[in-house]
Amino acid sequence: MLTQYNPYENAKAQLDKVAGILDLDNATQDLLREPMKEVHFTIPVKMDDGSTKIFKAFRIIHNDARGPAKGGIRFHPQETVDTVRALSMWMTWKCAVVNIPLGGGKGGVICDPHNLSLSEQERLCRGYVRRLHALLDPNKDVPAPDVMTNGQHMLWMLDEYEVINGGHYPGVITGKPVGIGGSLGRTEATGYGIIYVLKGMLSEMGLALADTTASLQGFGNVGEYAARMYTELGGRLIAVSSWSQKDNASYTIKRASGCDIQQLVSFKDRYGSINKEKAAEAGYEVLPGDQWISQDVDILIPAALENQITPDVLPKISPKVRIICEGANGPTTPDCDPIIKARGIELLPDFLCNAGGVTCSYFEQVQCNMNYFWSKDEVLQKLEYTMTEAFRAVYKLARGKQLCMRDAAYVIAVSRVAEAVKLRGWT
Ligand code: GLU
Repeated sequence: MLTQYNPYENAKAQLDKVAGILDLDNATQDLLREPMKEVHFTIPVKMDDGSTKIFKAFRIIHNDARGPAKGGIRFHPQETVDTVRALSMWMTWKCAVVNIPLGGGKGGVICDPHNLSLSEQERLCRGYVRRLHALLDPNKDVPAPDVMTNGQHMLWMLDEYEVINGGHYPGVITGKPVGIGGSLGRTEATGYGIIYVLKGMLSEMGLALADTTASLQGFGNVGEYAARMYTELGGRLIAVSSWSQKDNASYTIKRASGCDIQQLVSFKDRYGSINKEKAAEAGYEVLPGDQWISQDVDILIPAALENQITPDVLPKISPKVRIICEGANGPTTPDCDPIIKARGIELLPDFLCNAGGVTCSYFEQVQCNMNYFWSKDEVLQKLEYTMTEAFRAVYKLARGKQLCMRDAAYVIAVSRVAEAVKLRGWT
């Protein structure tokens, strides 16, 4: 029987484990186990056919002891409040592990943007802000794009906020389009950040990236830019799996000699689904299901959704795999960690690996505050520096204390947040 995984239970189990390692006091552990604030609300949207649909939405602040809450807004048909709770908690750890002065939050709307016209999406975005605007503020809570949301959604949200507040507040939302308060490099940042962390790990293992092969799950923004940088640095990406909304199923697109990323991008829709007919015409193998995981490669990059690597699928992972780079949030369930460790696979944890997006969001806020924007090279240089420093600190602690990389990342992040909570006198 398939186990049902609840990401919030996973997130709490991970925190409890590290609380034990850190000998955290009960009050701080209790505080960090729960979000500090939750807003559940409904958004009525006038549809193009004249009807009105009611969408359920959330915004959850896990912790803001280190700075304003930060985190994306997801549009997903299977969104649940517990997923948003878990993701808000992971945002707290993510900001802390890369040491940026922000807390953790997350938002979500239960909807499938595939089935909404652009004007319906615009009304949904504006409705989200109309319901929530009193709680949003550059100094309180700052949303960003996430699964199935993008710069256009952020700009509609910003515009609604600015109309309501009668002024310019570019620091209230990040991931905006370049030229309208966005930062160069933000689109690339999460995917590139994964590869900066991977480079750090490979160099510690004495492996050259150009000699490695990889298989990727998910070809949304994160997967695409991870694939671009990985292949530009000479890595061979053999397989990419993507979700097809049309078929309600996932496919793995494979080419043993290496995928041409630019070509695959030309076959994908705006939500990351690769058109399998076009891929087949171009000579790719199209494998049904999630065969990305059983490829004979050095590196697996899950960059789709949570709970993709479970004990049920672990046996499918090839003995050749040396590294799992978690591009998505929570792609591996906690019960896999000991098995992965026993197999000698290095797991680069999600909230370290995919912190590039929020790090660049922080740079975007800084640039908005100054009203002066850096060149792309400058942004990416700062991003690589921040990600590499964070990787080094985690790696050093992991090796020094014989911890796996996930536990080491948690120890660093949770101690930073616990310290802020204590210094503020909350516990
Ligand atoms: N949604 C991204 C994440 O999960 C970015 C969040 C942000 O930039 O605030 O990390």
